[in-house]
Amino acid sequence: MKPKYSFVIPIYNEESNIFELSKRLQDVAEQLDGTTEFILINDGSRDRSLILMRELHEKDSRFCYLSLARNFGHQIAVTAGLNFVRGEAIIIMDADLQDPPELAIAMAEQWRSGYQVVYAQRSKRHRENWLKRLYAYWFYRLLKRLADVDIPTDTGDFCLMDRKVVDVLNAMPERNRYLRGLRSWVGFRQTAIKFERDSRFSGERKYTFRKSFSLALNGIISFSRIPLRISTYVGLISAAIALIMACMVLYWRIVQPTAPLTGFATIHIAVFFLGAVQLVSIGILGEYIGRIYEEVKGRPIYILGEVGGFEDNQGLPQRLR
Ligand code: UDP
Ligand code: MG
Repeated sequence: MKPKYSFVIPIYNEESNIFELSKRLQDVAEQLDGTTEFILINDGSRDRSLILMRELHEKDSRFCYLSLARNFGHQIAVTAGLNFVRGEAIIIMDADLQDPPELAIAMAEQWRSGYQVVYAQRSKRHRENWLKRLYAYWFYRLLKRLADVDIPTDTGDFCLMDRKVVDVLNAMPERNRYLRGLRSWVGFRQTAIKFERDSRFSGERKYTFRKSFSLALNGIISFSRIPLRISTYVGLISAAIALIMACMVLYWRIVQPTAPLTGFATIHIAVFFLGAVQLVSIGILGEYIGRIYEEVKGRPIYILGEVGGFEDNQGLPQRLR
């Protein structure tokens, strides 16, 4: 029998959280109005996470797991989970209990009242490092300005989605997956639920600064072409400045032919400025081309090393079979 609710939970070195997580999930399942499955995705953990996941699956068959062949990153791990879900409503959440599982009950209520996407919006972040809060704050606002679609601020991947929405997401072939952007992009009836983000139950953050930065860049590049235009604008402005400078030089030559043309500093600044503009523009171009290259290679988005609780190949996307 197919479950009604599917939870998708990516796990990267979370051995100290899995037990508590499973307890809270089991409590939540009691309060939901239907059967539940929990899909844990091991994103190449190097600790005992996979062993604990196997044990959990043995004890309680509602817990299934997928184990990726290496660390593919959070967004890909969630993508893998989405490929395998069997429920009618799908909940994505983190394993570190920063996203309170109990919120799923309220989400399910909204879903039953007709919403197809219910996303959690943070009203507060508890005890998170001020630097992370600062850049998260500015990033979401910058993204809102730049992106072609309206991506709500302060929302992460924690959400409930209807089967229909997940089917659409699964049909999207793109490799650079910024899920919260894609989720907004697809449309459907969406609503937000406010919540206060707890601090981690245990363990360290798995999103290093490098990973967060690359996720942020992915978000901007996947949903906006404005950065490409910036170099055009800066180029036009530089051209205008160059024209004004040319006119000034001409004016001095004609009106004050005896005045020495002091301009070494100006020339240096102009050369460096233009050099910088060109390099930055090439860099921006490179970001887009790099992504085109990724897409064109057409490698599978992830590779599975082991699965538990799924029959042969079931749920595997066509290209991986
Ligand atoms: N995660 C993952 N792969 C990674 C990094 C993180 O699957 O390469 C998982 C991690 O186990 C957790 C979730 O993604 O369940 C969010 O990670 P984290 O708590 O470090 O991020 P933060 O909440 O600080 O943004
Ligand atoms: Mg976290």
